Amino acid sequence: MFKFQNSIDFARSMDQQDALKEFRQKFIFPTFTEKPVIYFTGNSLGLQPKKASEYLNEELEDWAKYGVEGHFLARRPWYSYHEQLTELTAKIVGAKPIEVVVTHSLTTNLHLLMVSFYRPQGKRTKILCEAKAFPSDQYALESQVAFHGLSKDHLVEIFPREGDQLIREEDIFAKIEELDDELALVMIGGVNYYTGQLFDMEKITAAGHAVGAKVGFDLAHAAGNINLKLHDWGVDFAAWCGYKYLNSSPGGVSGIFVHERHANDRTLPRFAGWWGYDKSKRFKMEAGFQPMPGADGWQLSNAPVLSMAVHLASLEIFSEAGMEAIGKKRDQLTEYLEFIIDDLSARNQERCTFELITPRDKSKRGAQLSIMAKGQGKSLFEALSKEGVVSDWREPNVIRVAPAPLYNSFEDCFRFGEALQAAIQ
Ligand SMILES: *Cc1c(COP(=O)(O)O)cnc(C)c1O
Repeated sequence: MFKFQNSIDFARSMDQQDALKEFRQKFIFPTFTEKPVIYFTGNSLGLQPKKASEYLNEELEDWAKYGVEGHFLARRPWYSYHEQLTELTAKIVGAKPIEVVVTHSLTTNLHLLMVSFYRPQGKRTKILCEAKAFPSDQYALESQVAFHGLSKDHLVEIFPREGDQLIREEDIFAKIEELDDELALVMIGGVNYYTGQLFDMEKITAAGHAVGAKVGFDLAHAAGNINLKLHDWGVDFAAWCGYKYLNSSPGGVSGIFVHERHANDRTLPRFAGWWGYDKSKRFKMEAGFQPMPGADGWQLSNAPVLSMAVHLASLEIFSEAGMEAIGKKRDQLTEYLEFIIDDLSARNQERCTFELITPRDKSKRGAQLSIMAKGQGKSLFEALSKEGVVSDWREPNVIRVAPAPLYNSFEDCFRFGEALQAAIQ
């Protein structure tokens, strides 16, 4: 086992050996803090790639120069703009190009996908999800159930056991078996936004399919963070936002995955729009919807090019770094941060203790650590902010920190420890 040290020299030597160390230079760090920033909220809003403004400006210039003709004459023609994002995205989530498209926003996409994949019929009417799902997902799921005229108890939640923070996967599997032929859909967040717990999506998919249900995931906290293999795992559908680990601007475009096995199924009901229509005949404007094969067939509208330009800048960085290297650094960096937090916790036992609610097993988490602060809570979080730490507070007493492997360093983790020590005092 590698022995970590809580020292600046050690942190810097780790940074020296970091295969991704050059990537930090590709991002812009916030400057609003009094002390030098320690940015640990890439799980909430990723940093701006330096190339983003260049790509955005190119589109503004082409719009100025060409007006409507930019759809075909722009350097990156707007008509097919989204197509350049497809392959880059497929690599990030472990999909075939036909299985992904970048379009709309996350909650919108979840709804569009549930219209196709949540089809309650006869006895098979229930959705299984995790308790304490992200609020937007809860509302989306509740409203989907209500949309089909079903009562609230058709949405079944899995809770952590009494006294636990995390959900036991065995409880998910047991619930799937119990619901059996009443289960229409399993819809879970791949990584829980609050605890940072990563679920075994391959096994959950297999378990759902074994009882005849469809299986989808919200990957808001997983895309760009976890090494995903959506195709191989056989997941039916998934969606994620572009602005968390994928650094693609506030409210930026989302991505969807629809497994290849559904690519040519024209019988799937869907809410349709012209951009999902067979591209070769789109401008014939004929009645009768004929979807594009694959994920493309779920698009409603023409591409929001300005958002996508910024997204492209980030996706190119992911492509250059590669998810494999990103995953390796993620584990080392997060483990180092965990070590620093434990060290601080041990040294400050009388004043304040911390408990990590995120799993300690690195195969059960990504880059995020959720720290439960006992004793100080919100005042500790505020003191941390004064030390330049940008992190995230969740009631009642959880501080979430996420070192993003593309731009955070081991020195950031060390400096976080110093900030935490200062904040405790
Ligand atoms: C961030 C996040 C969202 C946000 O949805 P938007 O439609 O992008 O506003 C939804 N669900 C989860 C699980 C999230 O983490």
